Amino acid sequence: MKITILTICPDAFDSLFTLPVISRALDQDLVSIQVVDIKEYAPGSFRHIDDSPFGGGPGMVMRCQPILDALDAVSTDGSLSVALTPAGGVYSQEMAHEFSELDHLVLICGHYEGFDARILKHVDREVSIGDYILTGGETAAMVLIDSIVRLVPGVLRHESTEEESFEDGLLEYPQYTQPADYNGDKVPDVLLSGDHEKIRLWRREQALKLTRERRPDLFDQFVLTEEDKKLLENN
Ligand code: SAM
Repeated sequence: MKITILTICPDAFDSLFTLPVISRALDQDLVSIQVVDIKEYAPGSFRHIDDSPFGGGPGMVMRCQPILDALDAVSTDGSLSVALTPAGGVYSQEMAHEFSELDHLVLICGHYEGFDARILKHVDREVSIGDYILTGGETAAMVLIDSIVRLVPGVLRHESTEEESFEDGLLEYPQYTQPADYNGDKVPDVLLSGDHEKIRLWRREQALKLTRERRPDLFDQFVLTEEDKKLLENN
C-alpha cells in the first residue's frame, strides 16, 4: 500500500517514521509513505499557498492551485484522495479497514482557516477525526496512518486485531499482566484458572458490560447473541 501526504509542514511527519509498527511496515516494504510539500507546487519565490478570504474575516485560506496541482501530480489510477476537514465524516475503525485495503491513499492536510471550498469538489472524501479543531491536518493524517498501517496484512506479527475495541462493535475486555497480586489488587481468579472456555466467557461478559456502561450508543446498535443475553442475564 502507498500513502501520499500533501502538506505544508513535511517535517511534522519525521516522528511518524520512528513509530515501531510503522517503521517495520516501511522496512518490509508492506507500506510506502510519500510526503509531498504543497509549497513545491506554488509558483514564485513567495510560494503563494494562501490568501485572505473573499467576503472578509480573520485568517487565511489555502488556495486552489497549489493543492490541486499537487493532487494532480501524485494521483494514480484508483488512488483515493481524502481531505482532512472538521466537516468530514467522522473517522472510525470501519474507515480504517476500508482505507487499509486501498493500493494508494492520498491525504490532504489543511491549515490556517482551511481549504478554499472549490478544492473539496476535487477530492473523493472528507474525513474529520472528531469534534474539535486542530491547527492543521497533519496530526489528523497521522491518526489515520497509524490506524491504517497496523491493519495492512503482514504488518502486525503475532498480535491479532480481531478482539480489539470497535472491531466487532464492542469495547475490549480488561487485560491484566504480572504480578497476579499488585499491592493487594488481585487479577480475577478466572484468568489464572487455565480454563480457556471460562476465560472466553468471562472476557465476553466483561466486554458486553463495559460497552453497555461506557458506550451505550455502541451497545444499542450491537446485536446480542443468545449466549450474550445469557451472560448479561446472569448478572
Ligand atoms: N476554519 C476551519 C473550521 O472552522 O472548520 C478550521 C480550520 S483548522 C484551524 C485548519 C486545518 O486543520 C483544517 O483545514 C483541517 O485540515 C485540519 N483540521 C482541524 N480540525 C480537524 C479535525 N477535527 N479533523 C480533521 N482535520 C482537522
